[in-house]
Amino acid sequence: MIIVLRPNTTQEQIDHIVEKLIKVGLKPHISKGLERTIIGVIGDERIISTYPLEAIPGVEKVLPILKPYKLASRDFKPEKTTINIDSKVTIGGNTLVVIGGPCSIESEEQILSVAKAIKEAGAHILRGGAFKPRTSPYDFQGLGKEGLEYLALASKETGLPIITEVMDPRKVDLVAQYASIIQIGARNMQNYSLLKEIGNCKKPILLKRGMSATLKDLLMAAEYILSSGNLDVILCERGIRTFEEATRNTLDISAIPVIKELSHLPIIVDPSHAGGKWKWVTPLSKAAIAAGCDGLLIEVHSNPEEAYSDGEQSLTPKNFINLMNEIKPLAKLLGKTI
Ligand code: PEP
Ligand code: MN
Repeated sequence: MIIVLRPNTTQEQIDHIVEKLIKVGLKPHISKGLERTIIGVIGDERIISTYPLEAIPGVEKVLPILKPYKLASRDFKPEKTTINIDSKVTIGGNTLVVIGGPCSIESEEQILSVAKAIKEAGAHILRGGAFKPRTSPYDFQGLGKEGLEYLALASKETGLPIITEVMDPRKVDLVAQYASIIQIGARNMQNYSLLKEIGNCKKPILLKRGMSATLKDLLMAAEYILSSGNLDVILCERGIRTFEEATRNTLDISAIPVIKELSHLPIIVDPSHAGGKWKWVTPLSKAAIAAGCDGLLIEVHSNPEEAYSDGEQSLTPKNFINLMNEIKPLAKLLGKTI
């Protein structure tokens, strides 16, 4: 249910409405738009329908949200969400935000050299995995806390905000101490305990689409985080499983315009895990930008053939510079800056 307030509603009236809603056991979420303030109400629909909400001063109308995702929907929030990262860059605005870095953090030297290279090339955020979700238990699982320390050092040296993945609800507090953005990987998109845990955390969340998840599944997963109190959610299309074997996954370009219509949340694209080979990264990035994505997440490694994970799809720093040079004019053409 959404409560649309009259244009000149006072803060006192808003507080009064919120207080009443909480009193009857409902959970209000305020969304202040440029012209209107909307209160999204989550809770037992029966209480809502028996309560004369339209009688409260300041309330203009009460409407049902018909979609199964409520807080993620455009009904709840017509304007696009913008998310500020460490007061350095905004995701969801006019900047096409480029996140770059290795799949895994391997050593202090490795992450520092990539961080410097991508910063030099104009990237906005540094990525690197310390806890890695690997298909095989025998593969490199990540450096854990030690990796987070190296990532923090690279951030300090370059000034770049950092994004890193958390897989275990028990590690959320630890990862949140280091990360500017916390990543939930494709394999954990529907790990509801983890989603609820990070919903209580104050850091922005990057939620990657599960490899077999529909867009509705993705938005329902985002709803878990939003309804737990964290409204800073960035969605990420990273390719889905199809019958095609030429690429690692099939990049679902349609996800971008469809998500933009259904939701106010920003959506970025990861062409590295979609294509699975470095040479597909630039064309897929261009397609994603043309379709209107808010940013890109690109794997970069100084020596891909020695990488502990995902070397095949990693760009060298030189190839990353080439990518940046190719996408800048395209972004500009579409009214975005990098
Ligand atoms: C990653 O970003 O390194 C990763 C493991 O991605 P995904 O969860 O999309 O497979
Ligand atoms: Mn990877």
